[in-house]
Amino acid sequence: MDTFTPAQQLRAGLPWNWSYDNLQTALQALIGHLEPDGALGRRTPRNPRMPTVDEFVNALIDASIPAGCPQTEVLALDSTDVRTHAKRRSWLAKPDTSDPYTPDDARTDKPWASPGWPKLQPDGRYAVSADLDARIGWCTVKNQEGSSTFNGYDAHLLVDAGSPGQPFWVPYIRGAVLRPAGEYKADAGLALLDSLPHGLHARYLASDRGYSYAKASAWHLELRKRNVIGVHDLHTNQRRPHPSDTSKGVTWIDGTLFPDSLPQRLRKLPNYPIGMKAADRVELTALYDERARWAFRVNQRFDNGDVQLKGPAYTSRIRCRNAPKSMRAKSTTPLTNCEPGCQCGSTRVIPLSEAAWERQELTFGTKKWLDHYGLRSFVEGANAQLKEWRGSMRRHSTKVFGTTANAVVLAIHCAAVNVSMTEDAWYGAVTLNTRHRHDVPHMQRRRPAAAPSPSARPQRASRRPPAGKD
Ligand SMILES: [Zn+2]
Repeated sequence: MDTFTPAQQLRAGLPWNWSYDNLQTALQALIGHLEPDGALGRRTPRNPRMPTVDEFVNALIDASIPAGCPQTEVLALDSTDVRTHAKRRSWLAKPDTSDPYTPDDARTDKPWASPGWPKLQPDGRYAVSADLDARIGWCTVKNQEGSSTFNGYDAHLLVDAGSPGQPFWVPYIRGAVLRPAGEYKADAGLALLDSLPHGLHARYLASDRGYSYAKASAWHLELRKRNVIGVHDLHTNQRRPHPSDTSKGVTWIDGTLFPDSLPQRLRKLPNYPIGMKAADRVELTALYDERARWAFRVNQRFDNGDVQLKGPAYTSRIRCRNAPKSMRAKSTTPLTNCEPGCQCGSTRVIPLSEAAWERQELTFGTKKWLDHYGLRSFVEGANAQLKEWRGSMRRHSTKVFGTTANAVVLAIHCAAVNVSMTEDAWYGAVTLNTRHRHDVPHMQRRRPAAAPSPSARPQRASRRPPAGKD
């Protein structure tokens, strides 16, 4: 706001010479109404007709997306660090969180404290700064000082990730919730899905292991209740082969059931590292696809969540002498050298709870899985949109304390990013009044040569807040 020209202030509905303090006062009045019962700042009982903070945040974000642009087939969920403006008074060696998830290369810090700090809070965790809602959590990306932890909040973002092969769509931020850092990500993710004003319509939800590492009852089974198919990466601990609880001669590998005839060389395949060369990736995908020939596949789903799986020789994806029908397949089909009694041609009923922690509908690592999971990178794009390209959501860019105030600021940021993306995608051809899908062009519209964008703003450099130091 400080960098708006008078014309831009007028356009944004801000009276001339408003200050940051004026805005903050208005914001605090709103927060006073939204603040949940039991929150630090709450003095009077909450009006029961007020929406919850999550509902308010998501209604605000929803209102920034044209109704003619529905959710895409794949939604991606991810979280990003929101650092508190407050100066740190002490530090912990590692987050005092009960979430068992730990990043792969986490480093512990040297703890230190000023007198009177850290302060134990009612949730049993420590506040290390005057922002008493902020907590220490693991960073999603290591910060410049090389620390693996930060003090603040986790912002969870749900983004339209399109559909495999879709040529163009706008990666709208569909929803968000904010939580003190280090709270259970799975709980926050579900709260986000449940506070969308029009519900969840996507077929797939791609999320990283911060969510899917939660125990099956907290994430995988909850997604199933919401009729959405989870696509997720696997943590190292989820990649240990283990025999089936209910059947002999078969093994779970990376969330997929295989008969013991699976060749040894395909049993342990590496994960996709970040920044992998395209050619190497193609090679690795080919191995996963080759392995998928041996996979048990779904034959039938039962209402109670159990599934009937059929073995690879049952559908002649491999040839096995113990399944005579499979021997009629083409000679290029892989041939096993099984002893009698193998499971290649069998069908199995798998209870809902078996391997529920790592099981997923798309076979892990295959091209189809990668085509869906890879769309998740658009969420990381949304983080950059908020923090760098369209927004200024960096440390010290706002000075509010508390979960509710920071959540509302996040929502305003997300709404602004959405409005800006609509403008850039279609240059006025689609607005918030575009209500029907058929009124939205399938392709991006080129910017008209003569008309400058009404959202043109001063140089980015001048919008950067002064670099803050602790
Ligand atoms: Zn066999």
